[in-house]
Amino acid sequence: MTLFDVVFNGNDTVYGLTENAVDAAIAQHGADKAVGFPHTAYSLPCYYAVTGTKIEKLGDMKDALAVIKSLMTREKRLNDAFMSGVATALCAELIEALKYIDGATPYEEPCYGHLADAVIRELGVPLVTGDIPGVAVILGSAPSTEEAAALVKSYQAQGILVTLVGGIIDQVAEAGMKTGANVRVIPLGKDVTSVIHVVSVAVRAALIFGNVAPGDAAALMEYTFKRVPAFVNAFAPLDPVIVACGAGAIALGFPVITNEETFRVPKSLIVQKDVSKFNATSLEARDIKIKITNIDIPVAFASAFEGEIIRRGDMQVEFDGSRVDCCELVQTKEASEIEDHKITIVGPDVDEMELGSKNCIAYVVEVAGKNMQSDFEPVIERKFHNYINCIEGVYHTGQRDMQRIRISKDAFAAGFRLKHIGEVLYASVKNEFEAVVDKCQVTIYTDPEQCKHMRHEVAIPTFDKRDARLLSLTDESVDVYYSCILCQAFSPSHVCVVTPERLGLCGAVSWLDAKATNQLDPNGPCQVITKERLVDDRIGEYEDVNEAVKKFSQGALEEVSLYSIMEKPMTSCGCFECICGIEPFSNGVCITNREYAGMTPLGMTFPELASMTGGGVQTPGFMGHGKHFIASKKFMKAEGGIERIVWMPKALKEQVADRLNATAKELYGIDNFTDMIGDETIAEDPETLLAFLTEKNHPALSMEPMM
Ligand code: SF4
Ligand code: ZN
Repeated sequence: MTLFDVVFNGNDTVYGLTENAVDAAIAQHGADKAVGFPHTAYSLPCYYAVTGTKIEKLGDMKDALAVIKSLMTREKRLNDAFMSGVATALCAELIEALKYIDGATPYEEPCYGHLADAVIRELGVPLVTGDIPGVAVILGSAPSTEEAAALVKSYQAQGILVTLVGGIIDQVAEAGMKTGANVRVIPLGKDVTSVIHVVSVAVRAALIFGNVAPGDAAALMEYTFKRVPAFVNAFAPLDPVIVACGAGAIALGFPVITNEETFRVPKSLIVQKDVSKFNATSLEARDIKIKITNIDIPVAFASAFEGEIIRRGDMQVEFDGSRVDCCELVQTKEASEIEDHKITIVGPDVDEMELGSKNCIAYVVEVAGKNMQSDFEPVIERKFHNYINCIEGVYHTGQRDMQRIRISKDAFAAGFRLKHIGEVLYASVKNEFEAVVDKCQVTIYTDPEQCKHMRHEVAIPTFDKRDARLLSLTDESVDVYYSCILCQAFSPSHVCVVTPERLGLCGAVSWLDAKATNQLDPNGPCQVITKERLVDDRIGEYEDVNEAVKKFSQGALEEVSLYSIMEKPMTSCGCFECICGIEPFSNGVCITNREYAGMTPLGMTFPELASMTGGGVQTPGFMGHGKHFIASKKFMKAEGGIERIVWMPKALKEQVADRLNATAKELYGIDNFTDMIGDETIAEDPETLLAFLTEKNHPALSMEPMM
C-alpha cells in the first residue's frame, strides 16, 4: 500500500460513516431540521470557508456530501491526497455538527468540543504578540501516562496552546494535570472526528481576521499555512482515518509529527520515534521560536499559567488590597539611587505567615534609565498582573492598591517565597522594557506599618497625579497619534490609529502604551502619526493620518476618520472587545461585548455582529472598539456621541457606568444616563426597546437620522 491508498481508504471510510449518519439523522428529524454549531456566525465553519455555502438544515448536508464527494478524486497525485484530507475533515465536521442537533450539549467535562467564535477573537492578541507562540494538536495515546504529561507540560511551559484528541485526554487526567482554556490545555473530545474543532479555529481565524472570502479555498489554505502556527502530534498506532485527517492538516500547512514508522513527506509528515523529542521536532518543523525568560524560581513561569485559578482550599496565604493595606508601584529614580537586581524584603516572609491567612503586601519596583519617562510607569506597572500570574501556583487580580495575590500550597511546598516575586518582577521588567530600563531594584514590604505608609503616603498620591495627567490627555492636547499594526500578523491590511481618547479596539493598547511601544522599539508596530493637516474636524479626518494609514495598510485603506461610524470608519481586525451597530428604529446604536453570549435588539448575537466587520475592511454602520472607548467624548462624535447609545448588556453597562455617566453629565447635563440605556433584562427586540426608550425619553429618539 502506498500513502495514497491509506489516505484514500481512510477518506472512504469516513465518507461512508458520514453518509450513514446524515441519512439516519434525516430519517429521525426530517430534512428541514436546523443544524449548526452554537456561538458561531459561520454555521459549519470549515464547510462554509471551503465552499462558501452555509449549511442550515439537515437536507443541506445531503448536498454537502455530493460536494465533498467531488473533492475525492483518486489520481495518485499529492493534490488528490490533500483534497481527500480536506474531504475527510469536512465529513468530520458534519458528524460533529449532528451531535449538536436540538441544542444538545454533547461534550462533558473536561472536553470542550466546539469552541465559540469569542474564544478565537480572544486568541488574536496573544497570538500576534507571540505570547501564544503556537498551537499543538495532540492525537491518540502516548506510549505512557508519564510521556503524555511530560509532552503536554513541555508545550505549556512554552506558552503553546495545546489541544487534545483521543486517549491522551484520559492520560493527562490520570497524571493529575489540570486542563482547561485558562491553562491553555484544551481537551476537545475522545472521537477522532473532534479534531475538527481545532481545525475550525484555524479556519475561522482566516474568516475573522484575514478577510478570506468564504469559498476561496486557495486563499484559506495560504492563510492557515502562513499565519496559523499549528502542528499535529499523532501517536502510533495510526489508522487510515487518522492518516486521512493528517492529510487534511498538511493541506492547511500544519506538519504532522508521529512516532509510527510510516511514510515520510519532507517537512510535512515527519517520523520521530522518540516522543521526548516531539516538542523540539515540532517547533523546528513549524519554525516556531520561543522567547526564553530565564528566572530563578522553584516553579514554572509561562504565559500558559496566566489564567490559572487558586481556590481557597489550595491556598497557602493570600494578600488582599480590599481588606488590608496593599499596593504595587513603579517609581523612576536616578541611576545612582539604584543597585541593579537588588531585592529587599521588609517584614515577614510566607513561611512566617499563618496557613490560609490574609496579609498586606506592597512591592515597589524602582527603575532608572536614560530613556525612562514617568509616562511609562503605569505601562510597566500594568504588566505586573501578567508577570505575577505567569508563575505556576500564584494568582493575581486587580491593580494599584486593590490587588489580590494567592500563593498555592503546592508552590509554597516547592519553595516559593516572596523574593521570587521580586525575581519575577525584576527579570520581566528588564526583559520587556530593556530599551528604557537600565537598572531595576525591587522592595517588597509585608510589615503592616510599612505597607500602610507605602500605600497612603506614596502610592495613592502617585496614582492621583497620574489620573490627573490622564484626564488632561485629550486628542487636542497632544501633537501626535500612534499607529498599531500588531494585528497585521492576522489581518494584513488592518491599522489601528490610537489617540488619547480612542484606545486600540482590542482594549490593550492605550495612547500611552503605544507611545511606550514606539520608544521601546522604534521600528516596531507603533509609529508616530502627525496630525497637522486637518481635513474635517467633525469626523476627525486628517491628511497625515490618511497618508499613514495608506502606507501602513500597503494601500488597502485610503481614508479613515477617527470619530465616525458611518463615514470612513476605522477598520477592525477581529479581536475587538465590543462591537456597536446602528439600530434603525431608535436612531441609536447597540453595543455588545465578547463575554455576552445572548441576543441583541439588532437580531444578532456578538459573533453574528462581529462576523459583519473585521479582516481590516471598512464597514459603515458597524465598528469594533475597546470597552474604555464607550465613555469617551470622541465615541461616534460625528453622529452625536454617546447620546446614541441605546442598548448594552447589563454587565457591560455596570462596568462602564461611572465613566459613561460622568461624560453624559459633563457633555449634555444628563444625570444617570445609563438608566436610560436598555439591556437584556429590559429588551432583546427593537419594539420593546423602543417602548422603553420612549418611556425614558432617551435623547437618541429626537436626534437626526443616521442613515
Ligand atoms: Fe491589534 Fe489594534 Fe490592539 Fe494593535 S491596537 S493590538 S492593531 S487591535
Ligand atoms: Zn486585533
